[in-house]
Amino acid sequence: MKSLAWMDGALCAQTDPDLWFPEGSGQHARVALRICSGCSVRTECGEFAQGVEDASEGRRHGAWAGLSARQRHRQAAANDARDRTIIALTEQGLSAAEIGARLGVTGRTVVRVRADHRPQQEAA
Ligand code: SF4
Repeated sequence: MKSLAWMDGALCAQTDPDLWFPEGSGQHARVALRICSGCSVRTECGEFAQGVEDASEGRRHGAWAGLSARQRHRQAAANDARDRTIIALTEQGLSAAEIGARLGVTGRTVVRVRADHRPQQEAA
């Protein structure tokens, strides 16, 4: 299990948590998102939120890591499409560096996506 020590730096823990989970539909958490923009643990927060939302079958609620639920949904869809392209290009025999250059991502991202999808490929 990953360490949650990053939460010690969470700016939202120092303010009203209701800002991140506004009541009612259509309400924007503008104040929360503005605070997130200055938070030093935004990257870790985004990874944590993705894990939570993946485990809850993609249900998204509230603001995390400077993104609204809708923005995170769009980001997840874009990441899924990118990951499928990485796997397809891998199957065509391209190196991580070639795929990274083609898609505008780092070779490290390519390696991580390959590793994340390896069990699914082997199980298929
Ligand atoms: S980025 Fe995450 S941890 Fe930081 S204030 Fe926003 S919701 Fe909280």
